[in-house]
Amino acid sequence: MKIVVLIKQVPDMEKVKFDREKGVVDRKSAGTEINPFDLNALEAAVAIKEETGAQVVALSMGPPSAETALKEAIARGADEGILLSDRKFGGADVKATANTLAAGIKEIGEYDLVLAGMQTVDGDTGQVGSEVAEILDIPHICFVEKIEEVTDKDITAVTDIWDGVYVKKMQFPGLLTVTKDINNPRLPSFKNKMKARKAEIPVWGLDKMSAHIDETGAGLKGSATMVKKIEVPEAVRREGKMWREDINSALDEFTDILKNKKILEVK
Ligand SMILES: Cc1cc2nc3c(=O)[nH]c(=O)nc-3n(C[C@H](O)[C@H](O)[C@H](O)COP(=O)(O)OP(=O)(O)OC[C@H]3O[C@@H](n4cnc5c(N)ncnc54)[C@H](O)[C@@H]3O)c2cc1C
Repeated sequence: MKIVVLIKQVPDMEKVKFDREKGVVDRKSAGTEINPFDLNALEAAVAIKEETGAQVVALSMGPPSAETALKEAIARGADEGILLSDRKFGGADVKATANTLAAGIKEIGEYDLVLAGMQTVDGDTGQVGSEVAEILDIPHICFVEKIEEVTDKDITAVTDIWDGVYVKKMQFPGLLTVTKDINNPRLPSFKNKMKARKAEIPVWGLDKMSAHIDETGAGLKGSATMVKKIEVPEAVRREGKMWREDINSALDEFTDILKNKKILEVK
């Protein structure tokens, strides 16, 4: 069995700054990490590997620096990593990102299961997983919070969305997107850290995947949408007031504040 895990390298959103002038994320202002939901996807893949002996391939589209994320994936239990990187992939929207990842998966060849996070903490559209499945023309289950059973033909997964809990069985090949509730990602082991340090990460550009994608489907050219501007709201400082003396006038003043803010309606 072969499992492909989609791993995106994202900026540390706790620290990253926004360039208000240009309306873009200043990626140099913070370190990077594996998108947290993708760590859950990787952990699910490694757990299946332990049960079935599956081979786990971590796949990422990103700049050359995303190699670090793939090495970390190996340190956390993936068998290998492949980086899709090419200047022609730059400026990709969701459609072009999904096209490129799907082309990478086709280039890998035989696979049974693709695992992705339910969303990223930077782009946050939550669309890439489903789009990859649609392009590959395989079934998919989104927001999986538990994997109940894996056989050599299918997988049974539980989702808890909106109006109920669903138990779904999906035949291979197929794709799952996972939530944070599915597991607790393990830390890298010493043995795997050593393996990751020595690992060579192949870098595939557009030419390598030319049987599945061309320039019109990747990067800016392959994008159907355009981000015109990102606006970051100013942080609002919390204000407090303490009344220490007359309780009645304090209550009157407090009620007035609530009325003015339209929190309280007094007839
Ligand atoms: C016009 C335009 C230009 C853009 N230009 C840039 C740019 O130059 N640089 C930039 O960083 N972003 C750019 N973006 C943002 C970029 O399109 C999104 O980050 C990307 O499409 C992934 O979407 P998402 O982050 O919302 O993923 P989601 O749909 O929220 O991700 C779901 C899951 O899909 C998988 N996944 C998503 N992206 C990747 C990936 N790259 N590799 C592997 N797995 C992945 C992960 O498993 C993830 O958990 C641009 C967007 C637009 C619209």
